[in-house]
Amino acid sequence: MGRYTGPVCRLCRTEGVKLFLKGEKCSSDKCPLSKRPFPPGMHGRERRRKLTEYGMRLREKQKLKRIYGMREEQFERFFEMASKQKGMTGNNLLILLERRLDNVVYRLGFAPNRRTARQIVSHGHILVNGKKVTVPSYLVDPGDTIEVKPDSRDSVLFKHIPETSNGARVPDWLELDAANFRGRVLSLPEIDQIDTARMVNLQLIVEFYSR
Ligand code: SF4
Repeated sequence: MGRYTGPVCRLCRTEGVKLFLKGEKCSSDKCPLSKRPFPPGMHGRERRRKLTEYGMRLREKQKLKRIYGMREEQFERFFEMASKQKGMTGNNLLILLERRLDNVVYRLGFAPNRRTARQIVSHGHILVNGKKVTVPSYLVDPGDTIEVKPDSRDSVLFKHIPETSNGARVPDWLELDAANFRGRVLSLPEIDQIDTARMVNLQLIVEFYSR
């Protein structure tokens, strides 16, 4: 199945929760979910029915997949990787998702949302340890430096850096040097440093794939 390319706010309305796919708008009163808290479509208001157990697991999986903007096959591949690691599969999955380069670009504040971050990476604007990486699913490691390519720093895409990024709140496992358009991975993220862990029920996602 391909990646969803329609209006992203519809995804939040389908799931009935804020997935924070837009950036600033998500925390403002312009968020469509605040105004229309029911599924999109003509019969949306009547459609929020009680879910079966399978439906609940499916919805949690869809939520997490949509938050990170991934295609189904790629998400399954991450789940498989997580299930082969030691420890709790749900936590492993979330930690792997956080380590994606597009997510790190977003977390450092170089992009307003993960969707834009993915484009920024695939268009070649990001260097990891001084080398261009164009793969959004690239997994960062502790010690890696992530920076905006010097030639790209004047682009309109990055005009908010360093002004608004100075003093920006980044997760504790990352360090931001906004003046130099650069970030560093200090450690692997801990599960309680990942806000997404509070947005989804990881156990239901594990159960979904354990059918
Ligand atoms: Fe979701 Fe953000 Fe759109 Fe609100 S503004 S519906 S949180 S993507």
